[in-house]
Amino acid sequence: MSASALMPVEEAIRRLLEMAEAQRLQDSESVPVSAARQRVLAADLVATLDLPPWPNSAMDGYALNVDDWDGQPLPVSQQVFAGQAPEALTPGTCARIFTGAPIPEGANGVQMQENTEVLDDGRIRFTQALNVGSNIRPQGQENRAGDVLLHAGQRLGPFELAVAAAQGCTHVQVVRRPRVALLSTGNELVEPGTPLKPGSIYNSNRTLLSHWLSALGCDVIDAGIVPDDLRQTRLTLEHLQHATDLILTTGGVSAGDADCLGQVLRECGKPLLWKLSIKPGKPLTVGQFGPVPVMGLPGNPASALVTFGLLARPYLLRIQGVEAVEPLSFPIPVGFAWPKPGSRREYLRARLEGGRAVLYPNQSSGVLLGASWADGLLEVLENRTLAVGDTARFIPFSELS
Ligand code: AMP
Ligand code: MG
Repeated sequence: MSASALMPVEEAIRRLLEMAEAQRLQDSESVPVSAARQRVLAADLVATLDLPPWPNSAMDGYALNVDDWDGQPLPVSQQVFAGQAPEALTPGTCARIFTGAPIPEGANGVQMQENTEVLDDGRIRFTQALNVGSNIRPQGQENRAGDVLLHAGQRLGPFELAVAAAQGCTHVQVVRRPRVALLSTGNELVEPGTPLKPGSIYNSNRTLLSHWLSALGCDVIDAGIVPDDLRQTRLTLEHLQHATDLILTTGGVSAGDADCLGQVLRECGKPLLWKLSIKPGKPLTVGQFGPVPVMGLPGNPASALVTFGLLARPYLLRIQGVEAVEPLSFPIPVGFAWPKPGSRREYLRARLEGGRAVLYPNQSSGVLLGASWADGLLEVLENRTLAVGDTARFIPFSELS
């Protein structure tokens, strides 16, 4: 197939997202906040509390009524620690107060203790002026009851879950996990823990993808390894097509005789994508097999990694209702020359050193180690050359999890 017939990456992503919209998961469940990391919120989280719930002190110091104060030392009428409910401030006095403690009624400013002196008679002398509201965190400064704090479709990480906890939530309503059957193809594959036979290699894609899928909120069904055999491949897909939302496979999608997965998908399923303008990862094949979509990633570890991160990831997030599926990326000057333009868009394993992108020396699609060395993927567009100092788009790996 000529380079011009390859599908551009954007077009492939567009099609996958369109497919994902039609396959949005409808069910949701309530899960404990402690177990909700990486899940996607199914309904807006609406505040039930003002935060802070009452005005409180931002400092250790003394609370007073600034309007009534004549600048003279004040006696201390009460002490308020965080966690206590204060009494109203006695006029003409100040209250010893600590960070996080509620402001007594009648007080409207806090002077930090560094700007005070305790006199021999116990009164407090203020060495600096203060304004109404000084060092007070007003009620509702962060949010008001009724505010939408988190939106349906938002992924839940430590920050979002802490927001839920601050409202007193023990549980959050999240979209059910996508069920993904993970299937490796290849006669050469054996699982770690089994002795290697001549000609065999250990299955690394299964480990790569099962961890990555879990990080994207998926339930992984380990479908094992299928040999390069058309009949067995078809039977395996038939067996897996029920009770899964996606069959994710690696290997067997190029145009060789042993590439059975692609053949079965094209002959017994409905192909949607095949042959992308991407390097590594050109043979990525996506199709529908009976009721279930099948995403056939190429077997080379770097190809599987790039296509999963750039194409399968947005799909898996979108079926869970996530809107913001595009990874954050930024332009970065490159620390190398790229004199030969490529006909496919390349995603190079690159590191940031001194503000410039440098490449892992071996960019072969069969090399996995480059990804663990790298900070992310550097995108080189089709038919582009680069000189040192030119900029290219960099996608940090942290944005792909
Ligand atoms: P394929 O896409 O099946 O043509 O495989 C391309 C290359 O990736 C071959 O060298 C395979 O041995 C290798 N490969 C395929 N699947 C895996 C896997 N699960 N783990 C590690 N390497 C793999
Ligand atoms: Mg193979």
